[in-house]
Amino acid sequence: MSETTEKTRCLIIGSGPAGYTAAIYAARADLSPLVYEGLQPGGQLTITTEVDNFPGYPDGVKGPEMMEDLKKQAMRFGTDVRSGIVTKVDFSSRPFRGETDDGKTIMAETVIIATGATAKWLGLESEKKFMGMGVSGCATCDGFFYRGQDVAIVGGGDTAAEEATYLAKLCKKVYMIHRRDELRACKAMQHKVFSTPNIEMVWDSVPVEVLGDPSGMTGLMLKNMKNGENRKLDVTGLFVAIGHTPNTGIFRGQVELDEANYIKTIPGTTRTSVEGVFACGDVQDHYFRQAITAAGTGCMAAIEAERFLGS
Ligand SMILES: Cc1cc2nc3c(=O)[nH]c(=O)nc-3n(C[C@H](O)[C@H](O)[C@H](O)COP(=O)(O)OP(=O)(O)OC[C@H]3O[C@@H](n4cnc5c(N)ncnc54)[C@H](O)[C@@H]3O)c2cc1C
Repeated sequence: MSETTEKTRCLIIGSGPAGYTAAIYAARADLSPLVYEGLQPGGQLTITTEVDNFPGYPDGVKGPEMMEDLKKQAMRFGTDVRSGIVTKVDFSSRPFRGETDDGKTIMAETVIIATGATAKWLGLESEKKFMGMGVSGCATCDGFFYRGQDVAIVGGGDTAAEEATYLAKLCKKVYMIHRRDELRACKAMQHKVFSTPNIEMVWDSVPVEVLGDPSGMTGLMLKNMKNGENRKLDVTGLFVAIGHTPNTGIFRGQVELDEANYIKTIPGTTRTSVEGVFACGDVQDHYFRQAITAAGTGCMAAIEAERFLGS
């Protein structure tokens, strides 16, 4: 075996809540896991400020701090954490093969895929500036902070419709902004949105600037795509719900993906179409998308990997 080829019992690809929880369980089961962190060490929670809904933190916790805790816990049991990305995989035979951007080849008896999904953003400078200070990508996570306030949500699919009705229960008013004159969401979800009295639809419009001061967001400037007119909404929150892209590019042709490119797992398990390859967290879940569900499936993946090796 050359110097650049290494062997592992368990290769974990990704270092979000799913990857690190899988690492904690795999390390404690003596699998000596190897984690590749990827371009976003710690995952999506490293771009948020307050995490208030992860059990075990009664006063809430900063996202980056929580992920540092998970990493330390995984390393305490001997997880080998490497910076760098897995650039290519070959699952056609065991041991599975992974290539990394530091020129290594990893031969792995099992693989746990925990590469997450990337939220799509509007791409505005002011959106970045007020991220976590008014701008959010997750109503379930952050809606609570906007109780009794006026907020806006942008998007037109099922997730946006679901999140708009969720926010309507907490907030005084919800403006739902969509660039077209009809929603893409299914008819049942549309009906729910249209029959919620404190949701106001703003059709044919796109956000052009998030307004605010050092204390946070104070408003949102919109542009009407049909007549070019601008309109200012006095809102303190903007929820961006225009979709997610699962990070599955390198797994195409290696494991089965669904029509939206999420990894298909056998219901109730983290097993993929390839025996010995498991998937956990947002990369296989477009429904819950929470840190705790990612962590839960990370635990499942490690237990399944351990039992697979023992069988
Ligand atoms: C702004 C924001 C705020 C949020 N707030 C909350 C909250 O308050 N509470 C909550 O429960 N949830 C929250 N979420 C959702 C939560 O962050 C996700 O559900 C969770 O992080 C998913 O975990 P994961 O481990 O599946 O993936 P991710 O956290 O997305 O991690 C994926 C990991 O895979 C790595 N990776 C990707 N490709 C490769 C590769 N080729 N090689 C190696 N590594 C790779 C990345 O670097 C990253 O480390 C929030 C999300 C966002 C965007």
